Amino acid sequence: MPTDFTLREVSLPSCSLGQVELELHWLSVDPYMRTRMQPEGYGYLAKWQPGAPLSAWGLGRIIRSRGRWREGDWVVGHLPVADRTILTTPEPADLLPFCLPACTPAPERWLHERGMTGFTAWLGMRHYGRPRPGETVLVSAATGAVGSLAVQLAQRAGARVIAGAGSATKRAWLREALGVSATLDDRDAEGFAAQLAKAAPEGLDLDFENLGGAIFAAAIDCLRPGGRVMLCGMISQYNDSDPRRAPPNLVRLQRLGAKLMPFVVPGHEAEHWARFQAEMAEFEGLAPLDVIDGLAAWPRALCGLFTGKGIGKRVVRLR
Ligand code: NDP
Repeated sequence: MPTDFTLREVSLPSCSLGQVELELHWLSVDPYMRTRMQPEGYGYLAKWQPGAPLSAWGLGRIIRSRGRWREGDWVVGHLPVADRTILTTPEPADLLPFCLPACTPAPERWLHERGMTGFTAWLGMRHYGRPRPGETVLVSAATGAVGSLAVQLAQRAGARVIAGAGSATKRAWLREALGVSATLDDRDAEGFAAQLAKAAPEGLDLDFENLGGAIFAAAIDCLRPGGRVMLCGMISQYNDSDPRRAPPNLVRLQRLGAKLMPFVVPGHEAEHWARFQAEMAEFEGLAPLDVIDGLAAWPRALCGLFTGKGIGKRVVRLR
């Protein structure tokens, strides 16, 4: 709940040699953050310690430099959830956080299609999933940051996309703005399998899995022999106390000779970031931002991801 977070005012030390002072402009909120509030080992990142400052993908501008970067430079990376911060500049060999091209027209794009969520969709759909023309692809949570890009990458590959979303407004957006032909209610855990069977009578070639739980199980049941599951996330389970709840029908993947590909962004940047950037520079699809204003609203913005009101990538604008 937003009331579980506290906003504190502290004074910053002065900027020492090798450091830069950063004014933050945009901060991300992402579903994985919920897993960092669960017991150690629940998710793939370390647990947040109660009382300790939080971090998020963020975007800032250098206002004072005693380090490698110049004043005025834009920087993106894992940054404190704060208004300002002092940062020790990384070695050139470190990829992230990194300095953005000086001519960046809309820096906040680096928190979405040119940044972490774009990279996630690209990794799962373009790099690993590789849908082929005519294949049938399911994307759950398809109006979210990752899902909405994953849908478009699959469409550009010539696949037929079935997209899930939890409200009629969101499903209408998927049809009207993205041109998706079949949309399903993926908040309808009980009825989802029947909806999917109707939308994909010949089965699925690829499931881009964002939700977990009953939706994931239904997708496995609908998979064709040799199908692929790109396991991106399981947001419907992040509030649960049992982290290791797997779909009961996983064994079906063996019977089908299907491929289950779990993937996470951390660890992939060094090898694939440059190719992702080159490909996404040409992306001309839709990548809406769902903007919430003010640092004090950051907790509310994060909690809102789980009630799912917005479309696209939720970001918090600080200035
Ligand atoms: P968003 O917050 O943008 O979208 C998530 C959507 O999921 C919400 O809008 C909501 O849509 C739906 N949702 C939220 N809670 C539930 C719930 N309890 N039950 C059903 N639906 C729910 O998320 P992202 O696009 O950033 O992330 C999508 C998935 O990708 C997540 O599982 C996330 O953990 C994963 N991810 C994985 C990464 C990786 O490295 N593998 C990196 C980044 C994200 P609606 O209103 O339609 O129900």
